[in-house]
Amino acid sequence: MEHLELRQQLIHHALRLGATGLSRGTSGNLSARCPQGMLITPSGIPYAQLQAGDIVLVAPDGSTDHVLAPSSEWRFHRDIYRHRPEIAAVVHAHPPYCTTLAIRRMPIPALHYMIALSGGPEIRCAPYATFGSEELSHFAVEALTGRTACLLANHGMIAVAADLDRAMWIAEEVENLAMQYVLSLQIGGPTILPDEEIARVVEKFARYGLRGRPPDD
Ligand code: 13P
Ligand code: ZN
Repeated sequence: MEHLELRQQLIHHALRLGATGLSRGTSGNLSARCPQGMLITPSGIPYAQLQAGDIVLVAPDGSTDHVLAPSSEWRFHRDIYRHRPEIAAVVHAHPPYCTTLAIRRMPIPALHYMIALSGGPEIRCAPYATFGSEELSHFAVEALTGRTACLLANHGMIAVAADLDRAMWIAEEVENLAMQYVLSLQIGGPTILPDEEIARVVEKFARYGLRGRPPDD
């Protein structure tokens, strides 16, 4: 079987979506770029049942010869890879706090410096469109411009990165920010950090975290 390691990584992270509380049941989906297109979780199959052979290879034109249907969101996964050459992993989930804000159509402001992990001072909320639609894909790609995460109105969130480990890290941190935002709104609302400060932290994050410790820090 081709790309066995990448398939196993996708299953490992799919199981983590449930374990971390980022998604329940069959909600959410994950993909990774590969030379033939992308590998993506199948539609509507509980993560605990996934075998390496169940991961669906989808060509850039959307075609597949797998017996299982690819995730219904294959369009936005495919379109994100098309528009963002630096991205090789996409995680989509319905985490409780992100989704609560997305239901209120509220973007996440710079209430904590960790927002810099998303690439800027605000995590946008894409307008609503039916799940799996081309329109949703268009809105998602737009909301992700210059960012590694966005909310999807009345739906959930997307995190993207150069690899699956980082995309999952971003997804978990964005859910943390969403929780902090919802909680801070209950005690008078957050104090927002200035754009210059977030720009400074975005710079620092380019050399921080899973890529290793920066030599000059
Ligand atoms: P799939 O099971 O088709 O991946 O759908 C889950 C989902 O989250 C749709 O937005
Ligand atoms: Zn979804």
